[in-house]
Parts: sequence; C-alpha cells; structure tokens
Amino acid sequence: MEYVSFTQVIAYIGLGSNLAEPATQIKSARYAVDAIEGVQELAFSSLYHSLPMGPQDQPDYVNAVMCVTTELSPLNFLYSLQKIENDQGRLRKGEQWGPRTLDLDVLLYGDQEINVPDLIVPHKGLDERSFVLYPLFEIAPQLFVPGKGSIIDLIAKCPLSGLRRIDSHV
Ligand code: ADP
Ligand code: MG
Repeated sequence: MEYVSFTQVIAYIGLGSNLAEPATQIKSARYAVDAIEGVQELAFSSLYHSLPMGPQDQPDYVNAVMCVTTELSPLNFLYSLQKIENDQGRLRKGEQWGPRTLDLDVLLYGDQEINVPDLIVPHKGLDERSFVLYPLFEIAPQLFVPGKGSIIDLIAKCPLSGLRRIDSHV
C-alpha cells in the first residue's frame, strides 16, 4: 500500500455577516467549511456583535473566528471559501465594507506571509480589528501573527470599539 503524505497547515478564518439572519449565516458557513475536502475544524470561537466599519447605514455585524487544518494550497483554500460566500448569496456590488450575507477571510495560513494579487496573509487590517483579534485570542491565546506580533500584544493596543461577545455558540 502506498502512503501519501500531505502537509497539514493550521489556518484561521474570519467569518462575518450582517444580513439575512447573521447568526444563521455563520452557522451554515461553519458547516460548509467543515464539508470542504481537505479541511478539518479544530476550534470555533463564540459569536460576537460588532459595529459596521465604513458606511454606517447598515445593520450591525455578527463575527466569529474558526481554526482549521488544511492540506489545500493558500489560493485553493481562499477559492473554496469564496465559493461558500457565493453559495450563501453574497452579491459583490463593489462597495468597500458594504453589507453582506457572508464574508469569509483567510486571516492566517500557518506562519506564512503571502502577497499575491488575490491573497494577502496575514489579512490586511487584522491587527486593527477588534472583531478579529478578540475571537482569535479566545481560541488561540498563544498565537503569534507573522510580521505583526503576539496576539496578546495586539489586543493590548486594540480598543473593543463596541465589540460584544454574544452568549451563545453556533
Ligand atoms: P472585504 O473582506 O475586504 O470586505 P471582499 O471579501 O470582497 O472584501 O474581498 C475582496 C478581495 O480581497 C477578494 O477578491 C480577495 O481576492 C482579496 N483578498 C486578499 N487577501 C484576502 C484574504 N486574506 N482573505 C480573503 N480575501 C482576500
Ligand atoms: Mg472578505
């Protein structure tokens, strides 16, 4: 029997939604990520309420962070997540930070720093966003963000900005 060995990488996904029952969108996205071939869930944060960035005439967000192992390449990993966004009815209207049924971002991919046209990792702005840093800290308090520092140091510099943990899991 031939053994095929895959390189498994630990990756973190940021999930966000502010339309069409956000908590339900996050839950469906979690199941859809679990169903991607070559991806296994390791941890899932609590849900958090956050205030919108950019345009303020839109509902508040629900956010969470998920940790997985994957044997997919960084770009295939991103494209699998974009397929889930599209399947859950995401319409791209070209408005930055506009309302969305589902946003799935690759926050971290192992300890890699990636900068290609479709993908920047660690995710841009990760170190300024309370709705990313606090859920990350919840599931990975020892985390080191390549090029940016330890999660504990990043949190210390990042105000909550209205972030609230919701007392329920999906
Ligand atoms: P945003 O999440 O910033 O509101 P989108 O989800 O519409 O915006 O993503 C816009 C583009 O960002 C995508 O086409 C994708 O190729 C690119 N992108 C670059 N780096 C990442 C990343 N780490 N995770 C997700 N998308 C990324
Ligand atoms: Mg995105």
